[in-house]
Amino acid sequence: MRLSKSILNHQEAEAVNKILLEDGYLGMGAEVGKFEQDIATYLDVPTNHVVCVNTGTSALHLAVESILEQGDEILVPSLTFLSSFQAISAARVTPISCEVYEDTLTIDLEDAANRITSKTKAIMSVHYASNPARLNELYTFAKKFKLRVIEDAAHAFGCKKADKKIGSIGDIICFSFDGIKNITSGEGGAIITSDQNVLNIVKDARLLAIEKDSDKRYVGQRSWDFDVKRQGYRYHMSNIFAAIGRVQLSKFEIEFAPKRKQLAKKYYELLNDNNNIIFQMIEDDVDIVPHIMPIRILNNKRDTLKNELEQQGIPTGIHYKPNHLLSYYGDGKISLPLTEKIYSELITLPLHPEITIEQVVHICKLINTYLK
Ligand SMILES: *Cc1c(COP(=O)(O)O)cnc(C)c1O
Repeated sequence: MRLSKSILNHQEAEAVNKILLEDGYLGMGAEVGKFEQDIATYLDVPTNHVVCVNTGTSALHLAVESILEQGDEILVPSLTFLSSFQAISAARVTPISCEVYEDTLTIDLEDAANRITSKTKAIMSVHYASNPARLNELYTFAKKFKLRVIEDAAHAFGCKKADKKIGSIGDIICFSFDGIKNITSGEGGAIITSDQNVLNIVKDARLLAIEKDSDKRYVGQRSWDFDVKRQGYRYHMSNIFAAIGRVQLSKFEIEFAPKRKQLAKKYYELLNDNNNIIFQMIEDDVDIVPHIMPIRILNNKRDTLKNELEQQGIPTGIHYKPNHLLSYYGDGKISLPLTEKIYSELITLPLHPEITIEQVVHICKLINTYLK
């Protein structure tokens, strides 16, 4: 059994073959343009609002760089994948670690408000475990304090708030298509925004900041005479990755999303009555396609449970080690008591489309036995 897994078959293999043997162009070309179109259609946004890059981390990095300057501060929950923090510091911007709400495990806006200084220019919310919690409150908060919003929606592809897909509303939204996310392109990411200024910057910045090269790439051309006015990166997506992503997207609503939801529902049904377990709270108007299945284990029983499960061949994870505890991001000098407590309680259970209902039943039976 695996904790997470890429789910691929001959369809992705054939799509890659086509790029390798027929198209023959492996860099950023027409296939990337088509993947952007497919994502735009899926999200119901204009195609030019979607910018594909080589990883979710690059998407976040470019998003941060497009709106912030060296020395600026951005509020971010400490409980997130290291990527969120690295993307920020790569832009020479300071990540300000914030607490999360105990019920939703997403950024605590009251705590964040207390950390605002004259340098604070933005907030990066993380849709932890695919949960775009308190999204309206987030944007009200941003408006009140005149902050830009970057949504780290790496977990939240396919999720909805009030019947609107994540990515179809909001300021700047970043997705990841790495191997284990809701859909994969092998590695990959995307930035979604309606801000034309941000779009211009990130489209150039992914191709070494060569001005207006993106449009040429879609039609198999490139610029020979050009200008560069800012730092850029080799962050464009490859045609090979786009080909994988397009097949994955075509399977998402019919195959992956229902399976992920069904498994998460079963975990909830079988474990929610256990007094030692707390599930993340999901608001009524939020519809999630769960990327991971973290639960909290109370009464100091997480570590023994984790060991017991591992001995039974059940792999588990801990999402995430809070970033403020890392040497590079504060070395534990600031304390976020709630985040640290939650970190000691979290365990992530196996979840991907090849896990069976029988396996979930088996895992829950073991957990309920250990946590009587
Ligand atoms: C996966 C992930 C990312 C980064 O995505 P990559 O494509 O792996 O670079 C960023 N933030 C969170 C919360 C993630 O889970």
